[in-house]
Amino acid sequence: MRFDIVTIFPAMFGPAFQQGVIGRAIERKLVELHAHDLRDHTHDRHRQVDDMPFGGGPGMVLKPEPVIEAVESIRTKNPGPVILMEPWGERLDQRLATELAAEPGLVIVCGRYEGIDDRVRAALQAREISIGDYVLTGGEIPAMVLVDAVARLIPGVVGDPGSLAQDSFADEFTGWPQFTRPAEYRGMTVPDVLLSGDHARIKQWRRQQAAQRGVPRGKELKKT
Ligand code: SAM
Repeated sequence: MRFDIVTIFPAMFGPAFQQGVIGRAIERKLVELHAHDLRDHTHDRHRQVDDMPFGGGPGMVLKPEPVIEAVESIRTKNPGPVILMEPWGERLDQRLATELAAEPGLVIVCGRYEGIDDRVRAALQAREISIGDYVLTGGEIPAMVLVDAVARLIPGVVGDPGSLAQDSFADEFTGWPQFTRPAEYRGMTVPDVLLSGDHARIKQWRRQQAAQRGVPRGKELKKT
């Protein structure tokens, strides 16, 4: 799966995805990640990507021409949906990440300042996605969250597919409490059942623990 990201800070993406599960997936060519400098799609000497808002008010707005031209230049290589990271967009959750993981790629635009000129949305038939009801300084960290959540669902990216199936939000249960060695640390012990070797009892205990943690957000309706 191919991710193309349009940003004024392309250098942020290298370090974020050099390591860990996604870093290995890039090395193994299961995932391709390209960060494009929005300023490469300006036509003026100052490489200006922003301008004052029509109607007045504080701050600056990302101009439509560089964003639209940047995305058009990517389209031939990435046929996936165009996504604008915006705080008021559709909320990212595991269901949406799963839906997007079935796409051949994603083209993600990171906003800055007061946001992106609204004509971009219509011109690119873009989907707006938010990572939560709070405001960050730019769309780069939200884009990283989206890439990470989607990329780990691509077959082969996470070594053991069983770990995806037992994740929180994978079904009507959250994950259960996990423990590793030592079995006792500073007087804190691991539940006996986990040391019992009785896999039926362990499974039942885990289900009970997950149920006690409550139904994951967004699954409440499904459970009734
Ligand atoms: N004026 C905007 C508002 O009132 O919603 C806030 C713009 S914010 C400072 C600048 C950029 O950061 C946005 O265009 C978006 O790309 C990104 N951003 C900030 N918070 C976000 C969130 N929760 N989810 C997705 N993107 C976000």
